[in-house]
Order: sequence, then C-alpha cells, then structure tokens
Amino acid sequence: MTQLQAKRIDGKAVAARMGEATAARVKRIVEKTGVVPCLATVLVGSDPASAKYVESKGKLCEKLGMRSLKLAMPEQTTTAELVGKVADLGRDPAVHGILLQHPVPKQIDERAAFEAIPPGKDVDGVTFYSFGTMFYDLPGFGSCTPAGIMKLLDAYSVKIQGAHAVVIGRSAILGKPMAGMLLAGHASVTICHSRTVDLRGVVRLADIVVAAVGKPRFVQGDWIKPGAVVMDAGFNPGPKGNVGDVDFEPAAARASLITPVPGGVGPMTLAVLVDQTSIAAARQLGVAADEVQR
Ligand code: NAP
Repeated sequence: MTQLQAKRIDGKAVAARMGEATAARVKRIVEKTGVVPCLATVLVGSDPASAKYVESKGKLCEKLGMRSLKLAMPEQTTTAELVGKVADLGRDPAVHGILLQHPVPKQIDERAAFEAIPPGKDVDGVTFYSFGTMFYDLPGFGSCTPAGIMKLLDAYSVKIQGAHAVVIGRSAILGKPMAGMLLAGHASVTICHSRTVDLRGVVRLADIVVAAVGKPRFVQGDWIKPGAVVMDAGFNPGPKGNVGDVDFEPAAARASLITPVPGGVGPMTLAVLVDQTSIAAARQLGVAADEVQR
C-alpha cells in the first residue's frame, strides 16, 4: 500500500467546531431578542436526493437551536409561482435565511427564483449580489461549499496570499465562487475547465488545488506538485460509497495536506449554511455587530 505522507484535513472536526460557535450565537440571539433564527427551505418536485439534502439541513438547524421551515412545491410549479413563494419568504420577518434546493425542474427559470431571495437572506450565496460580495471580499454570504473550503484552509493555517491556486471546474456554485474567494484572499488563481489544454501541466504548478469536476478520481497523483494542498470538493456515488474527484492515495503521497472523501469538504457545506443563517438572523434582529462574523 502507498505510504501516505499528507496530513488529512479533518472536515468533520472543523465543522463540529463551527457548529459549536453557531449554537452559541443562536443562544445569544434568543436571549437578547426572544426570536429563534429560522431557515426556510424550498423544495420543488420529489427528487429523493434533494429531499434528503433538505432534510439534513433542517435537522442540523434544529440541533443547533434554530427553527427550520420546510416548503414543498409540486413538480409542475411555474417560475411565477416559485418566485412568488420565495418573495413571500423574503418579506416574512420570522424567516431569516432562505435556501432554494437546486436543481429545480426544467420549466423553471432558476435564476429568476434565486434573484427573488433578498441578499440579506441569501444564506446559500446564490444571488448576483452575493457573487459580487464574494469577489470583492465585502460582507455578504458566500456559496457554502467554497466558503467551507476557505474555512478549512484557514483552520489548517494554509497561506493563501501569494499562493498559486488552481481551481478545476467553473460552475456557478463551486468553481467560480471558489476562484473569487481565493482571489480575494490574494492568491494568483487559474480556473480550469473541460476546454483547458494540458490540465496536468497547469495543476503541476499549483500550491493549492481545488478539484470541483464531478468525475470520480479524475485528478491523478502525479499531477500534484510535491507539498501542494489538495481540496477535493467532489462527491461521486460509487459501488463502495462516495468518492472524490481526486485519486486519493497517490495524491496524498505527494500533498502536504489533503481532504478525504467523505469527511473533508462535505461536512463544511452544511456547517456554513447554518452558520450563515445565524449571522443573517443576528443582522436582521440588530444583535451587536461585534457578535457576528462575516
Ligand atoms: P458541474 O456543474 O458539473 O461542473 C463541473 C465542472 O468541471 C465544469 O466547469 C466542467 O467544465 C469541469 N470539467 C468537466 N470535465 C472536465 C475535464 N475533463 N477537465 C477539466 N474540467 C472539467 O459540477 P459542480 O456542481 O461544480 O460539482 C463538482 C463536484 O463537486 C461534484 O462531484 C459534486 O457532487 C461536488 N459537490 C459537492 C458539494 C459538497 O457539499 N461537498 C457541493 C456541491 C458539489 P465546463 O464548464 O467546461 O463544462
């Protein structure tokens, strides 16, 4: 068996620590205002995986002392109906964060539905406004998976400033906001995608590699520069459980730090979502600014 040299990043432990901080913030909000922070989740249709994700988000909210309000809409929902429902939640003072589970059914204009979320309640970081704040490093809510990766890098004291970061993938929820956050942290960032020429050669130059491709074990061990930090956002169902986008063992033999799948990036996505909900609630309820972080 390959001798592992890299230190595994323990996403579960970092997420649990974050959960404690979130629960403490929620407790302070309730003590000061009597209001329980609430995340509203909107699920359109009956996709079992989406239903499971929504369920786990609600459960974590409740575990940390928050409320969750679950709205289920039928598969045939129109854009106007969904936009109307999201806008209602936006106006509801008892709702502090809104999560629209995506993807939504094909007939719906997903962007129109996202843009109906007021920026102050966009705890999943999906609106154009939130994208702007991610790129400019202004207070706002980040996309949860890349924001979770930034928190892992911070928890393990990875130096971002001046590093060459290579992000493989350019999706709106992962690759693009990831690149924006790393750039805001003063990394030099290269974004790769399916049309990138000589991907291996580009990845070989990276001090920090973020894999967000959606292809099991796609990033090969010999692409990794010795000592690089490897963050694997991939989550691909396989016959023996979920696997990442990085071929873990050979990559771990060269990296200085690496996230396993499962137990690396995954737990951070949920932790960030509920943390951002508690921050949104604090802001809306006027709890002192020094009691909330970005
Ligand atoms: P996505 O929307 O399918 O985007 C995949 C990206 O990979 C695209 O930008 C695509 O390039 C690029 N790509 C595809 N084939 C490539 C190739 N041969 N070489 C280089 N780039 C290539 O996926 P996503 O939503 O960003 O998700 C990526 C992974 O993260 C998936 O495994 C997903 O399950 C996982 N994920 C995990 C979490 C979590 O909480 N842990 C959350 C979200 C997603 P083009 O743009 O050119 O097509």
